Amino acid sequence: MNGNGPTVLVRTDLDALPVEEKTGAPYASTVRMTDLNGEEAPVMHACGHDMHVTTLLGTAQVLVSLKDRWKGTLVLIGQPDEERGGGARALLADGLYQRWPVPDYCLAQHGDPTIDAGKIGYCPGWAMANIDMIDITIRGVGSHGAQPHKGRDPIVVSAEVINNLQTLVSRTIDPVETGVVTVGSIHGGSKHNIIPDKVELQLTVRSFTDQVRQQLLTGIERICMNTARALDVPEDRLPIVHNRTEEFFPALYNDPPLVETSVKAFQAALGAYNVLLRNKTTGGEDFSELGRTKEKVPIFMFFVGTGDPSVAPKDRPGWHSALYLPVAEPALRTGMLAMSSAVLNLLKK
Ligand SMILES: [Zn+2]
Ligand SMILES: [Zn+2]
Repeated sequence: MNGNGPTVLVRTDLDALPVEEKTGAPYASTVRMTDLNGEEAPVMHACGHDMHVTTLLGTAQVLVSLKDRWKGTLVLIGQPDEERGGGARALLADGLYQRWPVPDYCLAQHGDPTIDAGKIGYCPGWAMANIDMIDITIRGVGSHGAQPHKGRDPIVVSAEVINNLQTLVSRTIDPVETGVVTVGSIHGGSKHNIIPDKVELQLTVRSFTDQVRQQLLTGIERICMNTARALDVPEDRLPIVHNRTEEFFPALYNDPPLVETSVKAFQAALGAYNVLLRNKTTGGEDFSELGRTKEKVPIFMFFVGTGDPSVAPKDRPGWHSALYLPVAEPALRTGMLAMSSAVLNLLKK
């Protein structure tokens, strides 16, 4: 707290990934950890979260040293479990907005290897997607592979379901909207000559608006049930569609007025040519949760370039790669300058 004024929350993520670091950096991770299944694995910050933490600490140092230039309350938080998406929800459930002041604004940044180090990117409005993870069990009636008429083949039902799912985005969503339905996993059967009694599918579903999300989710259910019915699967063996709601990431909506005022601060601090408007992506980010409580706090996440400008963007190791290595200088300095100037702009005297 530094006198009367607005409250700004700055969030960093902290977590790492089960990837063995191969960057060769002198500070490369050599840490191994035991995961939730009890398996030991090497871990690294393959998404750049170590850079995010450092940027937050640097921002704190800058803002403390400039205390006479701002007034208000600054809340700095480190969030666990961003990669799987439960962390922000856990912080809110633990009383983030009750035990600490409710922020007037929330800010966050994430490194981006497709942007040159020294530059930052921003996207007003919808910036990252809703992510739904769906499990589908296609059930049938097992039988001998030589006598398919005695059973109801869930492998054939699955093939039809997968094809029919392709019509959801192409035929039911307004073409100017965005939607993705990807079947990422299919498992069924055990032997050449056995018709199994079930096939398991795993889907990831992406959207931006609540309306498109609902259209896709109800469409998946409709296609599963009615494709199975069309292939004469008995009513008590229809597919089971399960949405893993605990793994849902809501879409990230960057508040346009907050983006506009922050971008002016970035341009003053970094030069207009280092501040790039970028497209939304169908990736996800659970920072979005902080703007979706009843308080409706305006939020803004921007992207800090971490890419080596001498390497073409398509050839740079991406997020979650064992070779992902942000160009520490000037990425760290740019991240700290951008975040400090955005906070100073919101809390200026
Ligand atoms: Zn990540
Ligand atoms: Zn990340």
